[in-house]
Amino acid sequence: MTKRELPTLDAFRLAAALLVVAIHTAPLASVSQPLDLWLTRIVARVAVPYFFMVTGYFLARKGWRGMGRFWRRTLALYGLATALYLPLNLYAGTGAAAWLRGFLWEGTFYHLWYFPALLWGSLLAWGLVRLGIKPALAAAGLLYLVGLGGDSYFGLARQVPALETLYDAIFSVTEYTRDGLFFAPLFLLLGAALAGGTLHLSLRTALAGLAVSLGAMTAEGFWLHGLGAPRHDSMYLGLPLCMVFLFEVLLSCNRGRWRAARDVSLLVYLLHPGCIVAVRAIAKLTHTWSFLVENSVGHFAAVVLLSLTAACLLARLRPQPLPPDTRAWKELDETALQANARVLQEAAGPGSRLMAVVKADAYGHGAVPVARSLQKAGIREFAVACLAEGIALRKGGVRGTILILGWTDPAQAPLLHRWRLTQAVASLEHGRALAAQGCPVQVHLAVDTGMHRLGLPAEDRAQWESLFRLPGLRITGVFSHLCVSDDLSAAGEAFTRRQAERFAAVVQGLRSDGLRPGTVHLLASYGIWNYPEYHFDMVRAGIALYGVRSDGAPVRTALPLRPVLALKARVALVRRVAAGETAGYGRAFTAKRPTRLAVLAVGYGDGLPRSLPAAGGRVLLHGVSCPMVGRMCMDQLLVDVTDAPDVQTGEVATLIGRDGEQAISVEEVARRCGTISNEFLSRLGPRLGLRVIPARPER
Ligand SMILES: *Cc1c(COP(=O)(O)O)cnc(C)c1O
Repeated sequence: MTKRELPTLDAFRLAAALLVVAIHTAPLASVSQPLDLWLTRIVARVAVPYFFMVTGYFLARKGWRGMGRFWRRTLALYGLATALYLPLNLYAGTGAAAWLRGFLWEGTFYHLWYFPALLWGSLLAWGLVRLGIKPALAAAGLLYLVGLGGDSYFGLARQVPALETLYDAIFSVTEYTRDGLFFAPLFLLLGAALAGGTLHLSLRTALAGLAVSLGAMTAEGFWLHGLGAPRHDSMYLGLPLCMVFLFEVLLSCNRGRWRAARDVSLLVYLLHPGCIVAVRAIAKLTHTWSFLVENSVGHFAAVVLLSLTAACLLARLRPQPLPPDTRAWKELDETALQANARVLQEAAGPGSRLMAVVKADAYGHGAVPVARSLQKAGIREFAVACLAEGIALRKGGVRGTILILGWTDPAQAPLLHRWRLTQAVASLEHGRALAAQGCPVQVHLAVDTGMHRLGLPAEDRAQWESLFRLPGLRITGVFSHLCVSDDLSAAGEAFTRRQAERFAAVVQGLRSDGLRPGTVHLLASYGIWNYPEYHFDMVRAGIALYGVRSDGAPVRTALPLRPVLALKARVALVRRVAAGETAGYGRAFTAKRPTRLAVLAVGYGDGLPRSLPAAGGRVLLHGVSCPMVGRMCMDQLLVDVTDAPDVQTGEVATLIGRDGEQAISVEEVARRCGTISNEFLSRLGPRLGLRVIPARPER
């Protein structure tokens, strides 16, 4: 967290947790009854709705795609919390049936209702948003109104006979209406609605709205309590409005996240009832009952102190993950990736599927996040270069076909089988050796149609047919690879067409012999760009999927692909050097004028070509193009920022990607260093962080 960040959304979680403690300890009871009523029965009722709202807000920000993970984690936490309070249930003599009912709906201890409400409520909210946010809010709002009549408006509602029947029915199965059906969905959905950013109140408007709505809710609360109407006091008519303004106030000044506040607030919530019991025990043992229990302020202070201490200690046990963007990192634009997959699928035509080539860590983009993101977009076939890459994908949760394009030692056949990987057969011996390992292996046969790299010779029918007869091989595909599909000269085109014809002849020959070739595929990226007519059953896109070209060679069909990767690094420091001073190894840079140099925390140890500064390499800072100077170090890089206004330590420089009007492409960097985009990308190092910018849900 830097000084300029003010993570108000997370900070308020702490305040909300303390308000919940207040609800359960009545801190002002021995000072003034009306004041205590105001604090604990009215104001503090914003606390739990707030937790629901931040949850809805963050779920919606991720397009509700974190739902499965969120549910599993909440359920695990609930299980843990339930186990923690089990001794108190046993002490109180709770029966098994009551306990189970509590576990499923109302919680097994008085504060644990929050978890089933969150679990069921989020499920309901998740289902409702499918209708669109407005109908969802309307439905949840109606449920809230029903809940209201069973809560603080109970005394009024039951005067209507039909409603009395309704609430009698409700309360014959459950204790309260502040639950996962009537209470939680509305606040989860309000948080989700505000994540859409449609409201956008100014801080002043939001503060004024908060003051007015809190005032109105205060009046409402005192009026209802004066009438003796409440059966419970979690729900008011003014509460949702109050929550919207409160959330807008916090949102308008929110910057960044504060993980510790999240953890500690949750732990305070979980632990405080236990701490109340502990404080009573301590008071008895130390003869401080009058101060620690009877005095409401002292009681509250003791419970807060104990809960906070316990929560902070426990929170420290949890390992803190390193955020990806603290030094130098890649940014993966999931929206662009998924859009590129759609464009390529369309270019391949309806009769052909898209196989995503994610070898070499998805050309440096991160194989598992890329494959998982494509999986979400409906891609079911992936290609890697080697066994280790295939296993890593499976361990990362990637399903469907994973084809290993490169050579695999036949002795590893059991691993191919174990991880359900499909192996490319490189030659007759390779195929025979794979078949001889005694465990069935799924393979695609590689055909050499002229590249003379891997593959069985296209003309040797006997080799083919002998492989088809081997019982240890399950042949599910046949493919070949083009070697000049990027060359549109007459000679290049003639060679490519000859390769395609040879390949088609092999497939034809197999079929006429009654052998089934399975999935037939030929084209990689440049094939899709230049010879889409040879799409067969499937196309294998690598570089095109990442939205870049290998080099400046023209292509026949310009597809609307967008770059997926950005590369960024922090400024470690900015220094001034006088004219005539030199900098860096070999004193390779000499300042021709008074110069401001920024030191970036990135170097060739991260995979950048060391030749880049001398080849005119540049970075973007504040939208200004700044030249790299001197010699690149393993972990540092000097940039002349004299022409960029006011560069500061900690700011972010763009090495690849867009900053304001300016952009630096992968193609530009590769060209400067005399290589192709593919090489530059695949060399990006494992030391770089990876930040995935999630795709916005399209609705
Ligand atoms: C790497 C590779 C591809 C993907 O190539 P791009 O040009 O990046 O699309 C496809 N097929 C084979 C056999 C490969 O080795």
